Amino acid sequence: MTSLASPYSGQIAETICLRCSARFFQAYGRAVRLYCTPECKDAARRTRNAARDRKRLTPARMLECRARSRKWAELHRNVVARKPWLMGPPVHPPTLPCVTLDISVAPLPKWPFHLRNMKGVHGAITRLLHETIGLRHKQRLPTFAPRMHEAGKLRVVVWDPLAVELCDGAFHVPLWDRPTLFRVEDAVEVSAPVVSRRGRTRVRMTSLTPIVISKDGHTGAETRPTKSSVLNSISGCFLERFSLQHIAPDVRCELLEVRTEPAHVNLGGKYRRVDGWTGEVDLEVNAIGLWLLRAAEAVGYGSRTAFGFGQIVIEELPR
Ligand SMILES: [Zn+2]
Repeated sequence: MTSLASPYSGQIAETICLRCSARFFQAYGRAVRLYCTPECKDAARRTRNAARDRKRLTPARMLECRARSRKWAELHRNVVARKPWLMGPPVHPPTLPCVTLDISVAPLPKWPFHLRNMKGVHGAITRLLHETIGLRHKQRLPTFAPRMHEAGKLRVVVWDPLAVELCDGAFHVPLWDRPTLFRVEDAVEVSAPVVSRRGRTRVRMTSLTPIVISKDGHTGAETRPTKSSVLNSISGCFLERFSLQHIAPDVRCELLEVRTEPAHVNLGGKYRRVDGWTGEVDLEVNAIGLWLLRAAEAVGYGSRTAFGFGQIVIEELPR
């Protein structure tokens, strides 16, 4: 290859395209072009992105790596027993199968968005989700959880990625028997928790609304947390939410200190009185337990979350 002009004296240089090896000319003094045409430049970028995506860590690849490491440890280090306290967090895609909707309600509702009034909100949101994206409650797995509420505003976690399509929509649904306009102002996918450390972690769970959990799932809620009710609440049907049933035997959670008091809220009608507790609980968990508590912090903890119960804050305590 010979240049038509030297870079020091001339205006034009001959270049070979990095992608198709075609010769082309470009002027000196401008941004250097590596590709002959915009098409070649785009094609090269697509190839680069595809190569990067192939290397990206996906849940499937992570599981593959862990299986390989386990096999290696069995073969070379004589490791046979599983050690849940040393296990890493569950392998999950970067988002949970949920969408947070920010909804404004007009006119201002008759009653404040308080737990004892949530029956009406529950009915209205159930109807809205059923009529728009065809969502229905399943036994033990409610499809949404109202989170924070202030005057005329609702935040609702919906257990269906389809709910992003409701963004910017406005829907007429009765609320406490009054025609009401629900406007979905924002719809955001919920990120999966990030737990980067293995081993024992001490955390404090603080309830923002009463927590309803029990030893045996959804019946006979307790008014004080116990080791078995806390463990069951994150290792039972909660795991189905994330298709993580296989990690149930590896969830570890110990109660360190309990500072709670009983809480009772009458929802009225067929929903009756809900029993639970409020306060603080200090726990020691493994990486899997911490991941699940963080997930519960984002989407609701225990049962009756579809009425606003089980809103918690998880803080890590110093070691
Ligand atoms: Zn080219």
